[in-house]
Amino acid sequence: MINQDQQKRLEAQQSSGARTVRPQQGQALKELADRHRVLACFLDLIKMDTQADESVKAAPSSAGQLQLGAEIMQQLRQQAAALKQEIKLWRTADGVVCLQLPATSGCESAAHLALLAHLDTAPDCSGAGVRAQLVKDYPGGPILLQSGLILDEAICPELYDHVGDDIIVTDGTTLLGADDKAGCAVLMELVQRALEGQFAHGPLSFVFTVDEEIGRSADLVPLVDLGADFGVTIDGCEAGELDVATFNASACEVTVKGLSIHTGSACGRLINAIKLAADFVSQLPADEAPETTQGREGFYHVCRLSGGVEQAVISLILRDFEQEGLAEREDFIRSLCERLNAKYAAKAAGSADGAGAERFVPEFHAQYRNLSAVLQAHPAVLELCRQAYASAGVPVREHYVRGGTDGSNLSYKGLPCPNIFTGALNCHGPYECLPVGSLLKSLQCTQALIELTARAPRTAVLLGSDAAALDWVAGEH
Ligand SMILES: [Zn+2]
Repeated sequence: MINQDQQKRLEAQQSSGARTVRPQQGQALKELADRHRVLACFLDLIKMDTQADESVKAAPSSAGQLQLGAEIMQQLRQQAAALKQEIKLWRTADGVVCLQLPATSGCESAAHLALLAHLDTAPDCSGAGVRAQLVKDYPGGPILLQSGLILDEAICPELYDHVGDDIIVTDGTTLLGADDKAGCAVLMELVQRALEGQFAHGPLSFVFTVDEEIGRSADLVPLVDLGADFGVTIDGCEAGELDVATFNASACEVTVKGLSIHTGSACGRLINAIKLAADFVSQLPADEAPETTQGREGFYHVCRLSGGVEQAVISLILRDFEQEGLAEREDFIRSLCERLNAKYAAKAAGSADGAGAERFVPEFHAQYRNLSAVLQAHPAVLELCRQAYASAGVPVREHYVRGGTDGSNLSYKGLPCPNIFTGALNCHGPYECLPVGSLLKSLQCTQALIELTARAPRTAVLLGSDAAALDWVAGEH
């Protein structure tokens, strides 16, 4: 069904001359998948519902992730058996699927590269019964999804960069799951190509992680068992992007203590924690919020406010690309609490609750850190990525992620780990789509990275700040 608002947008676009595009089903998609093995694999992977579930404490948080992991293991085993190749394949107790391939002859001293993608999909939108459809040779204009939703430039400004491309869309009732089954399909295809002997490579680890969408995956990757020197995640974002930096992130809970007195005798005595909390929130800088910042600007974000007269709790997250910037934001919260404690101290002095001047008490929790500091200490890693994009003919756009990636935590655990695009757009909802050309570019860039790494001495990656190593990565190969 199309609602009134959608009907109006559609009519406006039609009257401006834009033709409405209707996605095709069945045969057209099958023909395209017959031409691209990576696409056929992708379409297979999205059939299984692997939505992560934050309410479940166990890992993985949903049975679908275990099922997809088992399916992937079976396929990998069959591929290896068909080609009479030995592989090391295992699954951790948490459901993370790992495959390792030894270096091909002559590449034994190359750096050990880990490639990671996640099996789960976002909790925000259903991933059950995904029905992929195809917009063939996208002519531009609004795309009318089967459910009546309209995918257009207003929803997705990048869409018109893909005129002429084949685009996979949903029927408008579920997400597509390109985040991150596109990444998983790229990994599967690269394993197959490596087993077929299509390229030389150093030691490789392929890792299919779980529960990335609920922030648990980095802790579940068996880094010690893998023993890799550096890694890349293949996840999300527009073709050409290379994620080289993330926010530094901390969370803060401010406990606000009030004093509840019967309203009949409250005059001069009652201290309402709700009003104190409102005072706190009103003093956060209005131009440093997620809704008023972009690019490399950090922010304060109040994400939850709960409580009553006696006590309230304000939950905030703080974000900044600079570590010192984040420390300054924490200091700002501390000093705001001190100022407000002083402001309400007079009231508190005469109160009977013994809280004294401590009406506002902040508590901070570190969340993740900007991975760029780790990448700067290993400059060869980004240099190899840049060269990989160049050799795949994809202009690179180095991107600051206004959030965290798996790589943020993995980098600080010892695995320097930027992120390569999959090309998926509008992730986490029914407008999610995947231009096929972008998926193919993701595959090319990642394969090029494997091939370049095969020629990079391990020492050049590990001792990236060493001048000779940098000369090596900057030179011609
Ligand atoms: Zn993702």
